[in-house]
Amino acid sequence: MLGTDLPEGTRFVTPVDVGASGGWDPTRAAPTTADLSTCVACGLCLPHCPTYRLTGAEVASPRGRIAAMRAIATGAPATDSFTRFMDECLVCRACEDVCPSHVPFGRMMEAAREQIEPRRPRRARLAHWLGFHWVLPHPSAIRFATMLQPVLRPILPRRVRSMVPASASPFARLPRETEPPWGVAERGTVALLAGCVQDRWFHEVNLATIRVLAQAGWRVRVPKGQACCGALAAHNGRLSVARRLATRATHAFEGGDVVVVNAAGCSAHMRTYDELQLGAGLPVRDLMAFLHEEGLGDVALGPVPLAVAYHDACHALRAQGIHAAPRALLAQIPELRLVEIRNGDRCCGAAGTYAATQPEMAGALGDEKAEAIVATGATVVASANPGCSVQIAEHLRTQGAAVEVLHPVELLDRSLAQPRTSRVASSTSEPK
Ligand code: SF4
Ligand code: SF4
Repeated sequence: MLGTDLPEGTRFVTPVDVGASGGWDPTRAAPTTADLSTCVACGLCLPHCPTYRLTGAEVASPRGRIAAMRAIATGAPATDSFTRFMDECLVCRACEDVCPSHVPFGRMMEAAREQIEPRRPRRARLAHWLGFHWVLPHPSAIRFATMLQPVLRPILPRRVRSMVPASASPFARLPRETEPPWGVAERGTVALLAGCVQDRWFHEVNLATIRVLAQAGWRVRVPKGQACCGALAAHNGRLSVARRLATRATHAFEGGDVVVVNAAGCSAHMRTYDELQLGAGLPVRDLMAFLHEEGLGDVALGPVPLAVAYHDACHALRAQGIHAAPRALLAQIPELRLVEIRNGDRCCGAAGTYAATQPEMAGALGDEKAEAIVATGATVVASANPGCSVQIAEHLRTQGAAVEVLHPVELLDRSLAQPRTSRVASSTSEPK
């Protein structure tokens, strides 16, 4: 392998000399010299970067963004252009996946955004402060916001409305603990991340997750005290909030053997807690990988006669290398025909709040994805990430396509031939 015999510490590019803190604000997190030095400027990532593919501009490529970060690290002033270069990135991590030098691009981008946060216009900072400090970390605030959703949604600006589904479940409750059904041998206990918007916008997905896990022999706990995992805050340069939420999740889930997460963006983020906050590591496993690796037990799967296109969320495919697991699970369902989406590894343009901040780029990527899904002839698209599901559903709707968007676990749930007799140990309380 290239570089194997070279002395320890050898780099293909000389480490950036940044002195004490270069041009970064020393009071905030910043991309480290070691991380910045890993890029050898080979350009192999460029054709895989969605924003470079759309614009053809070096500044909208991973290599260009790293060069811009290096310039700031060596003392150049952070300008509005630098903020724009960073904000146009989807943090899809396609560049990480193909980079021969293992550049930790997601980590660098999160730190760069922490640096540019104070430079944003007052309105953007206020929106971030409200959203990331006050709404997402507090389940009761999310409940209140989703309660107002039917009234507020029609008057939201179009770019924000496209990120908000038409319906929500502000008052729905998950069972605190669910046992495997009678006659199914118990294999162990798992803790489930309910998620923040996931549980309000996709409550049915959480219920399907609990049913499938229980049918597969797992006792499912939904621990008290959990809240948002912090992924959105981290991706938007609010690392202090993300650290607090990582600590909170560590306390809520401590003592569990495994934390199962059914949203790819959340599982990818939670698996890097120890990088974000020392001692905050959790035994997190993405639901699709967990079910595939552990197997479905003795469940009898009934036929689901549908043509299903599987959408790879970047945070599953790129950040966690999950590709075969969901396909292998869906392939077990009798009469389900799995079809591949053309250029299926391309980002759909969801990327958290990207549709609101970069509507043109998000719109182009969303249209491209919806067209590729329609071309498969599938009547269902399976997506294991809430952001992708909302984005894809919106673009399918605007194209007039009658394609249903479901989480793959909902298809497994539909397929379960046995009557759903999971005994709910306690269903009166809810995660706080
Ligand atoms: S990020 Fe990786 S693939 Fe892209 S230019 Fe740098 S070293 Fe090459
Ligand atoms: S994270 Fe995605 S959008 Fe950002 S530079 Fe990498 S490939 Fe491009």
